[in-house]
Amino acid sequence: MMYDFIIIGGGIVGVSTAWQLRQRHPDKKVLLLEKESVYSKHQTGHNSGVIHAGVYYAPGSMKARFCKAGVSATMAFCDRKNIPYDQCGKLLVATTDLEVERMKALFERCKENGLDVEMLDATQLKQREPNIVGLGGFFVKDTAIVDYQLVTTHMAEEFVELGGEALLNHEVTGLTETEEKVTVEARHQGQLKTFEGRFLITCSGLMADRTTKMLGIPTDFQIIPFRGEYYKLPEKYNDIVNHLIYPIPDPDLPFLGVHLTRMIDGSVTVGPNAVQGWKREGYGRINISIKDVADMVRFSGFWRVLKNNWRTGLVETKNSLWKPGYLKMVQKYCPQLNVSDLQPYPAGIRAQAVMKDGSLVHDFLFAQSPRSLHVCNAPSPAATSAIPIGDYICDKVEEAVK
Ligand SMILES: Cc1cc2nc3c(=O)[nH]c(=O)nc-3n(C[C@H](O)[C@H](O)[C@H](O)COP(=O)(O)OP(=O)(O)OC[C@H]3O[C@@H](n4cnc5c(N)ncnc54)[C@H](O)[C@@H]3O)c2cc1C
Repeated sequence: MMYDFIIIGGGIVGVSTAWQLRQRHPDKKVLLLEKESVYSKHQTGHNSGVIHAGVYYAPGSMKARFCKAGVSATMAFCDRKNIPYDQCGKLLVATTDLEVERMKALFERCKENGLDVEMLDATQLKQREPNIVGLGGFFVKDTAIVDYQLVTTHMAEEFVELGGEALLNHEVTGLTETEEKVTVEARHQGQLKTFEGRFLITCSGLMADRTTKMLGIPTDFQIIPFRGEYYKLPEKYNDIVNHLIYPIPDPDLPFLGVHLTRMIDGSVTVGPNAVQGWKREGYGRINISIKDVADMVRFSGFWRVLKNNWRTGLVETKNSLWKPGYLKMVQKYCPQLNVSDLQPYPAGIRAQAVMKDGSLVHDFLFAQSPRSLHVCNAPSPAATSAIPIGDYICDKVEEAVK
């Protein structure tokens, strides 16, 4: 059978794309292939569950646009599907003079991005959050929390109800493109199967560079995995904060800093940090993949990232291995927590595209060939932005197949 569209990846970006393609083209055959036995087993199922309002992103960037549109689109989807979410808002807290300066710049950026924000002095901060200390902070009203695995599952179910075909346990191992079609080779229960489509879209997260390279598309980036390690607070702390509490991030780093996150199940997590990963899909503390490490050490961008960030890398690694160091990052603004309050919680692994020159790609990144489109970089807030990203991909696909 010839499919019109084949999508690789059953994370939130792939599922959102498949679901929207099927809505737009009810007469076309749409196939979604996912290598795992469930949807959202990787980044989508290991994140903080935050519907980001769009605080950090450069005005005019795809991140800023998609994130803003994603907030209302995600909430509207949740309303329609009765998926619980909580618009609890978020507080960014400055604890040093340097952070106060950075906070002012971030506050201005929020206003440029059209967000509803409110500056708070130390007293107002204390009134809103009695367990949090800081020199000041600001409140972002639109931030919310949700379970993205649940969102993805509902979207996938609706995709199938609309007549789309979804195959789990199908790992794509080879791709070829001709003028007429794309041929996809996938492994299913030890057997190789072949699928043909008029257009291919890859949304493969931590494997984005590998699936793009399968088609021989020249790329100058590679995915470098960054682990995000969390802890969970004991149940007695479920009400320790009223909002999500974030530090003021270093503007030179792409990660947001260890935060206190209220989860949709009522618990509170601490994290995530950002440490070098040695296995793209290895969630245990000492997982190493020879293939993943070999790919990294052969890539010049990896060595440049190490060279440019070795100080931060060492501190993050130390704090990853030594709980009291990790604790200090959160005690800065929540001093009452102790080492024994940090209970185990699963880590997540971020797929971060890095260019050959060692620069980290901050915005979403796509690559194209005549019959394919590849999502090469979809870091946070791609879960928040998944519906607008899918919408954008649908537009691009329609232009390409015209
Ligand atoms: C620790 C952490 C915290 C985060 N917090 C937030 C947050 O609070 N809010 C937010 O908006 N974003 C957050 N993010 C970012 C967000 O989770 C990701 O940007 C988003 O989930 C990316 O979705 P995806 O579909 O592109 O990737 P993924 O969810 O990783 O999905 C990719 C899928 O492709 C499949 N795949 C790969 N290769 C193949 C193949 N060869 N054949 C078949 N299938 C294949 C994989 O199995 C996987 O299911 C966070 C990320 C992390 C790691």
